Amino acid sequence: MSFANLGLLPELLRAVADKGYDAPTPIQAQAIPAVLAGRDVLAGAQTGTGKTAGFVLPILQRLAQAPADAARRAPRALVLTPTRELAAQVADSARDYGKYLRLRTAVVFGGVGINPQIDALRLGTDILVATPGRLLDLAGQQAVDLRAIEVFVLDEADRMLDMGFIHDIRRVLRLLPEQRQNLMFSATYSDDIRDLAARFVHEPVAIEVAPRNATADRVEQHAYRVAKDHKRHLLAHLIQAQGWPQVLVFTRTKHGANRLTQQLERAGIQAAAIHGNKSQAARTRALADFKAGRIVALVATEVAARGLDIKELPVVVNYELPNVPEDYVHRIGRTARAGMEGCAVSLVSPDEALLLRDIERLLRRAISVLPVPQFEIPAEAPPAAGRGHDGHRHHGGGQAGPGGHGGQGGQRHPGAQQRRSGGRQRRGAGGRTSHGR
Ligand code: AMP
Repeated sequence: MSFANLGLLPELLRAVADKGYDAPTPIQAQAIPAVLAGRDVLAGAQTGTGKTAGFVLPILQRLAQAPADAARRAPRALVLTPTRELAAQVADSARDYGKYLRLRTAVVFGGVGINPQIDALRLGTDILVATPGRLLDLAGQQAVDLRAIEVFVLDEADRMLDMGFIHDIRRVLRLLPEQRQNLMFSATYSDDIRDLAARFVHEPVAIEVAPRNATADRVEQHAYRVAKDHKRHLLAHLIQAQGWPQVLVFTRTKHGANRLTQQLERAGIQAAAIHGNKSQAARTRALADFKAGRIVALVATEVAARGLDIKELPVVVNYELPNVPEDYVHRIGRTARAGMEGCAVSLVSPDEALLLRDIERLLRRAISVLPVPQFEIPAEAPPAAGRGHDGHRHHGGGQAGPGGHGGQGGQRHPGAQQRRSGGRQRRGAGGRTSHGR
């Protein structure tokens, strides 16, 4: 199968060739002809499958082949995404794949000024990529007219629902014309997702490129059982001992992401946090630094990481397991993208044992638990006078790791097996072990 067999315009084939893609991915091979034929599509596809090109390419073609009234400036295709990052990426893809066509793409999302977006919409656009809240704001201000939408895409629908966007989605649907083509993409299919699909997708072509709720098979998955208080040390050890060049680390909370980032930095690992409390500029910078290799660890919350497209990401770490097992599938979908091999490592504390079991049930497979390697727990300076404790118990009670013991000064965690000690040296009491790379 080649892209040329899919009936794409020469301008699109050129753009695809420029990207260096040899052949369509399975979702593209199925979605492109269906969308070109004007059908509604309901696709179960994880991120990393090439789904974006699967809808962007045929939409560009449909719009190019049926040019709009030149005077009309209202968007003809609307793509709704759960996060700003995903919106930005989809818009970049639309511009990239559409570079040899005369079509315009605009992107709108919250967290940045609304006025430049109003100006862009006033100039007119063919494709509009949006997050729901900002789109509704703009519609409320009469800055966008959605009555000319011919194709509507709901991307990462499961995440939309997780993020509580159901009412916003319904409101957006009410602003669209009755006659239109609908495409819905979701990595997982719950009953809520099916209900939502039933509302607006008509006689769809159903496409499923990975078995329902199955994890990308290419992702090697492991877990380490480790005490909560030891996780950060084990993580620092793994990053250094295994020489991971780039790691995306998931934490449950924004605060946890910030704290872990600082802890990794203190261990000599360049890190940055990405989460909803960060400004858009800080998020964009962190992602750029990560992609450029200026930082090794990108510490992210679930929501912020959604939609990040980082090429060849080798390792994803679940620093804490997600409460919802499906989120595990999303998280590890960040690695092994587009044919790459990837590895997902979970650090599982005793209180997370049940979460791990739920994930294994969903995957219908066991995640191998590796022996904990020996790692260093550096001594820490006592909390400075007048400054609070930074939240973790250290040296003493509460260490649940196998054989963990209290005491002052640097210590090694006597893991069940020493995979690589890395030759790290212990320093005197009160000193910190250098973890420089
Ligand atoms: P997506 O699932 O849409 O987020 O795409 C995941 C990644 O796959 C992106 O980095 C795309 O650039 C890349 N990609 C999309 N289609 C192809 C293809 N046919 N061959 C190789 N890579 C692709």
